[in-house]
Amino acid sequence: MKRGWQGLVIKAFGGRDFRLTVLGTEPVNDRYHRLHLDDGGLLESCGVHPTMWVRLWFDDDGKPHQRAYTLVDPDPPAGRFSLEFAVHDGPAPRWATSAKAGDTIEATVQGSGFTLPDPQPRHLYAIGDAASVPAINSLFDAADQVPATVWLEYAHDAEKALPLRNRAHHTVSWVPRENAGRLLVETVCAELPSDQDALYWVGAEASSARAIGKHIRKDLAVDKRRVSALGYWQAT
Ligand SMILES: Cc1cc2nc3c(=O)[nH]c(=O)nc-3n(C[C@H](O)[C@H](O)[C@H](O)COP(=O)(O)OP(=O)(O)OC[C@H]3O[C@@H](n4cnc5c(N)ncnc54)[C@H](O)[C@@H]3O)c2cc1C
Repeated sequence: MKRGWQGLVIKAFGGRDFRLTVLGTEPVNDRYHRLHLDDGGLLESCGVHPTMWVRLWFDDDGKPHQRAYTLVDPDPPAGRFSLEFAVHDGPAPRWATSAKAGDTIEATVQGSGFTLPDPQPRHLYAIGDAASVPAINSLFDAADQVPATVWLEYAHDAEKALPLRNRAHHTVSWVPRENAGRLLVETVCAELPSDQDALYWVGAEASSARAIGKHIRKDLAVDKRRVSALGYWQAT
């Protein structure tokens, strides 16, 4: 697939390309779909870190459509990982829900980088939704002794049945998506404490992620090295 200017820019910034092959599909529920993939050498070549994501190149009526997805249970010796797709009306979940074993998709590794603070944070505060459950699960796994407080926004009840990997010392609160995400922002901003030894991780709708990230850095005066806030999708 021709990737246009976007492909050129990503290449110029060191993007590395791989071809993934679907090994199996697993619908989780009507809002969530899991695929198991052969990595085409990606994991051996690029290594793995918590919250690691790849750029997938979907076909959108003949035009390249590049979107980020998070690796689930990457297994470098086996050269496999899974991907979990929140289902809404978009080219990415359309491809995922109709994919079958043997289908392939191009993936580029560029831009994903994250390391847990060392020593590990005293507490993890995470804010997300169905799109960032895979990333938050990877944080639960990587920092499994760290207490965590997590707020997850949901637009459909089925999202509350997502495969979360929280432990007994992790608290998860579900917040309905109301007022174009403002309820999540208000709830989180009212409840988040300031803690310079904590890690704050945000992966939510773009305007919510921006507002919450700003609140953490400006109002709570948390050192920016302790904050990761990224728009995971954009409401239209
Ligand atoms: C670093 C990173 C990692 C990500 N990892 C994952 C992952 O593992 N799993 C996952 O499901 N998503 C993940 N996302 C989010 C995913 O990339 C976006 O949801 C993307 O917009 C989906 O593309 P699309 O084909 O639906 O098309 P788009 O053209 O982006 O969107 C089409 C329509 O769907 C709406 N929409 C898009 N995403 C969502 C959503 N999540 N919820 C509700 N409506 C939406 C848009 O507002 C638009 O109306 C990640 C994003 C980032 C930045």
